[in-house]
Amino acid sequence: MTIQTIGAHPVALGKNPERSREHNRRVVLDVVRRHGSLGRAHIAKLTQLTPQAVANIVDELVGERLLMEMGRLRSGRGQPPIQFAVNPEGGATIGVEIAADHMVAVALDLSGRLRDKRITPLKDTTPDHILSTFAEELSALNRSVASKLLGVGVVMPGPFEIEGMTSVGPTTLAGWAGVDAAAALSKACGHAVVVENDATAAAVGERLFGAGLAISNFCMIYFGVGIGLGIIQDGSPYRGAFGNAGEIGHVTVAPKGRPCPSCGQRGCLEGYASAYVLKEKLAGVGIENCEVADLERLHAAAHPVVEGWVEEAAAYLGPMVAMLENILDPQTVILGGALPDAVIDDIIRRMGNLPTSVASRRQRALPRVLRGQTGQLTAALGAASLPLFHVVTPKLETSLTAIADIPA
Ligand SMILES: [Zn+2]
Repeated sequence: MTIQTIGAHPVALGKNPERSREHNRRVVLDVVRRHGSLGRAHIAKLTQLTPQAVANIVDELVGERLLMEMGRLRSGRGQPPIQFAVNPEGGATIGVEIAADHMVAVALDLSGRLRDKRITPLKDTTPDHILSTFAEELSALNRSVASKLLGVGVVMPGPFEIEGMTSVGPTTLAGWAGVDAAAALSKACGHAVVVENDATAAAVGERLFGAGLAISNFCMIYFGVGIGLGIIQDGSPYRGAFGNAGEIGHVTVAPKGRPCPSCGQRGCLEGYASAYVLKEKLAGVGIENCEVADLERLHAAAHPVVEGWVEEAAAYLGPMVAMLENILDPQTVILGGALPDAVIDDIIRRMGNLPTSVASRRQRALPRVLRGQTGQLTAALGAASLPLFHVVTPKLETSLTAIADIPA
């Protein structure tokens, strides 16, 4: 769960030459990513590294295939400089979303482009079953992207390490209490694994690849099996002191309401507005094991259970949106995750006139609520980008802009 947050400028970090060399490599990679392609002199000017240091680092990165030569730029008099760009084939990262009922795995190249994806239903959430499925999915993806695997990011439903809330209930992973997930997953696949909560990774995925591309402050209400909140503040995820920020599923929305099977309180948001509750209600009328496509079909046919759930979810989510606006003052609130686009659009429509909040400005660049664009892949895309930051960027915030700026 560690994300590198070293400063964006080249510095001698203490007296450890290895660390400062590693840092300066990231600074060079980052500046090249942000500009698409650059010559050595330009890199030196932008990074304030010496021309000799830049020459050495660029040679090294080209040798490792992380950068590639792009030929010479025609400009002015004299010999035009050789241009360098990030080599998409220089490495790949894999992102895996482990939800209570399915696993999504994606592979990205070094430029952040999607190279392959796999979606597998999970019938069982025990560590044994998940770890073996995880290892199989990973080796299948690894075979399909020929380049070197730079890292693996995994998202799992939080919250992490909360007494009475850890790994219990239908929206979390049964059997994982007390298991060091990152260590177990690393051992299963033989690579270093970074673990993050699903809603935070979904927000990062949306920031990199979807509706959040040009938005640096937003909230993302994420429909997994339960419901979560990812917060992007000044381009970076806000994680809180223990990685549990945004656990809105267990915010009380109905005092004395329905008992919550996950935390034992009453009236949690998750008990009304989660996909789990929708599926439970459908099971109650004999429609079992609904996948996203089934929900889409039932919604299109205006099935009364789906209609009723959408109406109730909208009734609880509207005030939640206004509360998030009042507390966090985001540019917009994005709704996304493992529900059909049409269902999310319908929830937004039925929220109707949102309660007044600090966001009730006449002059708004964006609507108060938007649907996410990365659909079912959003959390897995966010997961895959986690090791990318670790490998090639000096700072998460800078890298988010950097990836968005890389031309296709
Ligand atoms: Zn609860």
